Amino acid sequence: MATISLRNVRKKYGGFLAVPDLSLEVQHGEFVILVGPSGCGKSTLLRMLAGLESVTGGEIAIDGEVVNDRMPRQRDIAMVFQSYALYPHMTVAQNMGFSLKLDGRSKAEIAERVQEAAEILALDKLLDRKPAQLSGGQRQRVAMGRSIVRDPKVFLFDEPLSNLDAKLRVQMRAEIKSLHNRLKTTIVYVTHDQVEAMTMADRIVVMNAGQIEQVGTPLELYDRPRSRFVAEFLGSPAMNMLPGTLGGEGGATALRMEDGTTVPIPGVGIEAPAGREVVMGVRPENLSLARGGEGVEAVIDVVEPTGSHTLLIGRIGPHAVTCEIAGRVPVASGSRVRLAADPAALHFFDGESGARIE
Ligand code: ATP
Repeated sequence: MATISLRNVRKKYGGFLAVPDLSLEVQHGEFVILVGPSGCGKSTLLRMLAGLESVTGGEIAIDGEVVNDRMPRQRDIAMVFQSYALYPHMTVAQNMGFSLKLDGRSKAEIAERVQEAAEILALDKLLDRKPAQLSGGQRQRVAMGRSIVRDPKVFLFDEPLSNLDAKLRVQMRAEIKSLHNRLKTTIVYVTHDQVEAMTMADRIVVMNAGQIEQVGTPLELYDRPRSRFVAEFLGSPAMNMLPGTLGGEGGATALRMEDGTTVPIPGVGIEAPAGREVVMGVRPENLSLARGGEGVEAVIDVVEPTGSHTLLIGRIGPHAVTCEIAGRVPVASGSRVRLAADPAALHFFDGESGARIE
């Protein structure tokens, strides 16, 4: 276990400032996941932590000790990559014990550590196999095993599941989570899969253009995204975003879209003057079919039954909207319905900056 402190960390590649100024504290035993779109600097940050990339400015400390100038091997960190090249001619046990052998550890110690890690990862019956005789998930576990045997203070994972098929990813998600529960090692994990982040992290760090947009528990970020960027990044299908102008007498009671469509928003206590340009966000699962004349009209272009839910994909005025309803609904493609939302489930963001409006 270890704490990690990033203090005003900067990274420049030639003339390009990939990370302008980033600070983050990771607690003992915490599972922190970095998410963000391609190119936002997730791998750069992880590689700086590992010591594979230099830091242009600022400090990285592990357990209070600045490690900027330490070589990767001196940082007591293990990194698991997306492409986990195993040595094909070696058995599982030899693959897992290889780094210990390079360190000059005794045969007995290597065997003991490999056995321990293999039991944690349910690989103990496969120790004599070669990588070619393993499934994708088993190979991934061997890759993790190579790190576990070293008993590092910190695990870094760089998109470790992105080469696996969907079913295996779900299984490995659960395995990594339970591994963390058992080992309690501090983990920093990079992914661009928001489902992985939501399901595994103690805290999620949402990054955008080398900066942190928001840090919090998965549900904090999901329920109270601080910006439109975070709101759209977490959740699948993504949060609906309806731009317009606040209107109504004595406070905001309606959203007026550019084509004149008016969405009533009764009972919403936002402190925003009428006439302000905003974006109203509502998650697909917070929309429902309205009774009578309530809500707002939507045209449904596509109906997608997923089995447990029905997705209604269409438009409110000129803007796309997706509605996720539990169970089955008798709505046909091309029909018009009225959609309503719980006022407590509405989010408002500034039309220009995208910042949340309370
Ligand atoms: P992805 O999800 O696509 O892996 P990422 O968030 O991990 O993206 P990084 O690989 O950290 O992003 O890259 C951050 C930025 O730095 C990108 O704009 C990238 O083009 C740039 N970059 C990364 N490595 C280098 C390098 N060696 N030289 C110059 N620019 C680089």
